[in-house]
Amino acid sequence: MPSNARPPVDQLLGQTPARQGFVGRRLTVLGRALRLRCPRCGRGALFEGWFSMRPKCSVCELDLKREPGFYLGSIYVNYGLTALFVTFVYPACMLFTNWPDKAVLGVLLAFCVVFPVWFFRYARSIWLGFDQVIDPDPLDPQLAERSADPWAIRSSEADAAGKGSGPL
Ligand SMILES: [Zn+2]
Repeated sequence: MPSNARPPVDQLLGQTPARQGFVGRRLTVLGRALRLRCPRCGRGALFEGWFSMRPKCSVCELDLKREPGFYLGSIYVNYGLTALFVTFVYPACMLFTNWPDKAVLGVLLAFCVVFPVWFFRYARSIWLGFDQVIDPDPLDPQLAERSADPWAIRSSEADAAGKGSGPL
């Protein structure tokens, strides 16, 4: 997509949680991750297939490939949730049900194989969102010069113009 086909920067910023607080920003990025959307603009799809990520966001052109090995971190998300689920569900089944031990183990073993494959895209999306919360990619080089925090660009612009801070 040619760069001149991008929506205006202000339109993109309207999609960002610029006026949200610490928790609100993270919840917004988490919501975008669970919808498999770009963590920066919330609009571009991250995947073009089950396992195939797009190289860039089709809307804001965020580089989705990142650096080599970046998505190894998503394994922690995927493995962590799988292990956490099994850690709580297995003892709960043993304590509160009369289900046979081997049946519970069989079901949980199948879960440990199927769930990470299904959750693969979400784990990557959550990891990418986590990265954007911790170390956000500026939306636009010109705007990045004015603010290191792309979430705050809109409010800093409003303050500079002396218009105060209104809702988005
Ligand atoms: Zn985007």
